[in-house]
Amino acid sequence: MRVPFIAGNWKMNMTVAEAVTFVNEVKDGLDAVSGMESAFCVPAIALPSVAAALSRSSVFVGAQNMANNESGAYTGEISPVMIKPFADYVILGHSERREYYGETDALVNEKAKLALAHSIKPIIACGESLAQNQAGETQAFVSGQIRAALDGISTADMLKIVIAYEPIWAIGTGLSATVEQAGGIIKTAVRDTLADLYGNDVAQQIRIQYGGSVKPHNIADYMSHPDIDGALVGGASLKPDFVELVANGVTA
Ligand code: PEP
Repeated sequence: MRVPFIAGNWKMNMTVAEAVTFVNEVKDGLDAVSGMESAFCVPAIALPSVAAALSRSSVFVGAQNMANNESGAYTGEISPVMIKPFADYVILGHSERREYYGETDALVNEKAKLALAHSIKPIIACGESLAQNQAGETQAFVSGQIRAALDGISTADMLKIVIAYEPIWAIGTGLSATVEQAGGIIKTAVRDTLADLYGNDVAQQIRIQYGGSVKPHNIADYMSHPDIDGALVGGASLKPDFVELVANGVTA
């Protein structure tokens, strides 16, 4: 069965000192939660310190992005080789990367393959804009993002990937998708597409998170949907009650 997984995405928040203080504050609480995997995806500069602070903890560490090359003349980039000693996961294709830094599906696909080659598990983010949602394009758009991001990825590698469905209009806005909306798209646009690409047996093993204004008070509703296996959490992962959010996500 799929082990549920809640990952915090800090985005561009927390100094290294703040990051270490924060994880030290919450790690025991997170370790005490059973039946749920959790992770913090932190700014690259904080990866070594956070990984050290969490070295005896069950909480995983993730990066928020990485380059599509291993080394070389790519000023300002951080490679998978550099993050690998500290990161179990890497978020790829977050809508903010796509919107502000022009990341395409093809680039996400390239990065996913490179992450897997370095044994870093990708959390591949997908999701539609408000305009696409209102135009009834969600299903086709999200399914297309999934197909493009996974192009050429083997079944063995697919089993290491987590998908995060995040409707862009619900990220950081307080406008969360309803459980029916989120679960419906996760089932029909994500899991059914995975089944089409890899077969139903594989699709049933892939963890699919919902992301978009997930808070301690609404996580249990999302987790009640049979196709939602956790969450990618932005704002609420910067607060100590992230522990409560993770605990509330455990289904009976
Ligand atoms: C995110 O950063 O992926 C996210 C879902 O943010 P928030 O939880 O703040 O909406």
